[in-house]
Amino acid sequence: MNLELSAYITLACTSGVLNLFLSLYVFFKRHHYTNISYVFILYTFLISIYCFGTAFSLLSTSLEELKFWTTVLYVGLPISAPLGLLFIMQYLGFNIFKKRYLLLLLIPFISLMMVATNDFHHLYYRVYEIDPVLGAPYVYQEIGFWYLIHGIFTFSSMFTAFYLLLSQWRETSSEYRPQLVALLFGQLLPMMTAFIYLIGLTPPGIDPVPMVFWISSMLYLWAIGSSRLFRIMPIAKMTIFNNINDGVIVLDTYGRLIEFNEASEKMFPGLTNKMFGKHIEELWQAFSGKSLPFKIEKEALQKDLQFSGPDHREYTYQLRTKPFQHGLHHKGQLLIFTDITEVKRLQLQLEHLAYYDELTQIYNRRAFFRKCDQYFAEAKDHKLPLTVILMDIDHFKRVNDTYGHAVGDQVLNHMVKVCEEKLEPGQLFGRYGGEEFVLALQNTDLIKGEELAEQLRHYVEDHPFKMEEGVLPITLSLGVSSANHEPDETLFQLLNQADKALYQAKEGGRNRVKAYTNLSDQLKRIEITGG
Ligand code: GH3
Ligand code: MG
Ligand code: MG
Repeated sequence: MNLELSAYITLACTSGVLNLFLSLYVFFKRHHYTNISYVFILYTFLISIYCFGTAFSLLSTSLEELKFWTTVLYVGLPISAPLGLLFIMQYLGFNIFKKRYLLLLLIPFISLMMVATNDFHHLYYRVYEIDPVLGAPYVYQEIGFWYLIHGIFTFSSMFTAFYLLLSQWRETSSEYRPQLVALLFGQLLPMMTAFIYLIGLTPPGIDPVPMVFWISSMLYLWAIGSSRLFRIMPIAKMTIFNNINDGVIVLDTYGRLIEFNEASEKMFPGLTNKMFGKHIEELWQAFSGKSLPFKIEKEALQKDLQFSGPDHREYTYQLRTKPFQHGLHHKGQLLIFTDITEVKRLQLQLEHLAYYDELTQIYNRRAFFRKCDQYFAEAKDHKLPLTVILMDIDHFKRVNDTYGHAVGDQVLNHMVKVCEEKLEPGQLFGRYGGEEFVLALQNTDLIKGEELAEQLRHYVEDHPFKMEEGVLPITLSLGVSSANHEPDETLFQLLNQADKALYQAKEGGRNRVKAYTNLSDQLKRIEITGG
């Protein structure tokens, strides 16, 4: 046996042993790894068959032996390339369906059958003989139709795997790049060797690919041992990442997308792997048609965002950003989105129930006081005018007594709607109780307040309530009072004064406006003390 041949055999055996070792190593440790390891076990096992088959074929001395070992090596050879592709696809997170699995394995299976039965049809090798010059184990072969199919398929599988790995380069964090390099070379080496073989640069009839598999195996061994290929942790992290309900988007230093979880796909329909590397501003524009409503800052941020989904529904997402450091220099951002649409809706509903009058849908007494307290304090602090108006429907009891409570309710609603037509934003309108209502007017003095009260009175009188039985006139009595900014003045006093003025309006014959003045109060006091 010449030196060259023994070198081939040694290399092929080394590759076989290393691949068998890899296969068994991962097999016995498979419980520590993820599902991806099963494809790898099969992949390396079949490569070892391919390598040993090649080694034995190189030891053959007759055509029968050669044919036998070629068939054996074909148990591994044709399937190893597509399995390598499947392994890479799994590694990169592609969803692989069983049907596609089987489809990929169909051509290799036919190739094996073709080789095993070549003597009957010569579709794989048109000619397969011992090389007349060099002798066994060198082979003189002329390739057949199926050999071509097999060659194209094998090469395409390896090339696709290589291309897929390469295309992930930009999206792969620096931490995982050495692993990616190992896998890239693991695919590139046999691919290049197969290419050299196919264009006829190697000795006739000797497949050099098994001679380089040992290098690929070393790279895989390194990837498994030191850079945690298959390790449960990265994948477990991925599982956690994908199972949290919040949408998580990971950006790199420049604000470009490097990762996102399944929840964020649901929150931002249209978010796909194709968008890796795109800037968040571009992404947001694509999702919502709007510009980015927040800034990527160095500091963490929390913000509620309105998001119009493609279903034309409005969503409220709470965004939390979190800068993070990976590696020495790389800083990135985590964007965590929590869908708080339902919470917000309930919150608004509760707020509405707590602050709005059920019948008239204007502020209830509690909400009025809450807001008016602020108005009062501001007016006092800045010595600004503030006026309150109390209004009461005249003879409302009669409406109830004559037409019933339900009509009474409608009249209350009607009166509120009529008044609202005359009111401006910022004028605080609330139901004070029963058929009494209250208005608080910022930056409005007593005279202006009286004018508005008069307008309201007039407007309500001009807009009677219309019902089936006819037209029901409604009139209001109104009491107006303004803050005097004395240090000990309270909102309660102010409203009390408006109430007194209202009482005067009632006393004066109803359907009128009365303003409270200190003078009238003093007069009253004199009357009482004098009496
Ligand atoms: P005045 O001109 O002196 O104000 O006479 P009035 O009849 O309007 O006043 P009174 O205080 O005697 O009666 C108010 C009535 O308003 C009594 C109460 O049953 C009725 N009322 C209070 N709240 C509601 C309500 O929510 N719906 C209806 N339909 N009636 C209400
Ligand atoms: Mg009344
Ligand atoms: Mg009343």
